[in-house]
Amino acid sequence: MLLAAVDYYRPDTLAEAVEALDSTEGARPLAGGQSLISILKLRAASVDLLVDISRLEDLRAIAVADDGSVRIGAGVTYDEMAMSPDLHRSHPRLSQVAAHTVDAQVRNRGTFGGNLCHNDPINNFPPVAVALEATMHVTGKDGDRDIAAADFFTGYFTNALSSDEILTGVTLPALNGRHMGYQEIEIGEAAARAVAVVATSNGNIESASVALGCLPIPVRRPQVEEALAGTPATADAVAEATAAAGEGIEPLSDADASADYRQAMASVVAKRAVMEAIEGGQNG
Ligand SMILES: Cc1cc2nc3c(=O)[nH]c(=O)nc-3n(C[C@H](O)[C@H](O)[C@H](O)COP(=O)(O)OP(=O)(O)OC[C@H]3O[C@@H](n4cnc5c(N)ncnc54)[C@H](O)[C@@H]3O)c2cc1C
Repeated sequence: MLLAAVDYYRPDTLAEAVEALDSTEGARPLAGGQSLISILKLRAASVDLLVDISRLEDLRAIAVADDGSVRIGAGVTYDEMAMSPDLHRSHPRLSQVAAHTVDAQVRNRGTFGGNLCHNDPINNFPPVAVALEATMHVTGKDGDRDIAAADFFTGYFTNALSSDEILTGVTLPALNGRHMGYQEIEIGEAAARAVAVVATSNGNIESASVALGCLPIPVRRPQVEEALAGTPATADAVAEATAAAGEGIEPLSDADASADYRQAMASVVAKRAVMEAIEGGQNG
């Protein structure tokens, strides 16, 4: 179906974008358009004004701070993430995930911020932001605010932003010797996904952060993290500690996978992600 007629505005500054969102009912930011335009074509949502933020300079940088944390502008595309030497050094696994997201066309247009704001359960980056304890930087008519990633995702396709607010960037803390594992089961778009950020020392797990994706909201698994802390960094110990990863989650059933299957696969992807992070540590 063709796109229905909609007003379009490409502001030159972030302030102009916020002003347009605030002053026009039914206005919506347009980033890479890889989700929003499809939704509009399908008539699954209607928008009166598209505010194109894709060329705003304020949203387009990747910057590593002295403490090793990295700030990724919301308008940075997956391709730009994949090709950034800074991101490759600071968060190499994230750089790889960006490089393998969907296909060349989507990677050329899709943005890190759009991926997070859209919060489609199939999107790659929401569980990464939660596992890494990212900070989301937001600007709106009342000024700037920061939101912890754990509080940013509020439900299926929804987030904590109000209609005048724009996600401007995301700060990922330094890995500081930790390693990230990212594992998914690809049936259709994705049936199950886990991200683990793990520190090891002398053959034991010092700390672990584990988040699951392919859910309405990406969730941390504190009981798994507690079980992992202090255990030997071996496949058997990790399997035991991650066995309960699917307890209490509420996955969706869709054409790709049933909720029961997704629940059963949570421990499988959690174990694989933790083992990948451990092996990253062993490989340097
Ligand atoms: C065929 C296909 C397959 C795909 N498969 C995958 C996949 O397997 N994994 C995956 O991760 N993604 C996948 N995607 C989705 C893709 O990653 C989209 O790029 C992403 O969901 C949205 O990013 P975008 O920049 O295109 O945002 P847009 O489509 O422009 O916007 C999406 C939503 O976010 C809002 N928004 C965007 N940026 C901001 C901002 N800075 N502040 C506030 N609100 C904002 C918009 O208003 C809109 O509501 C797929 C897309 C296609 C077309």
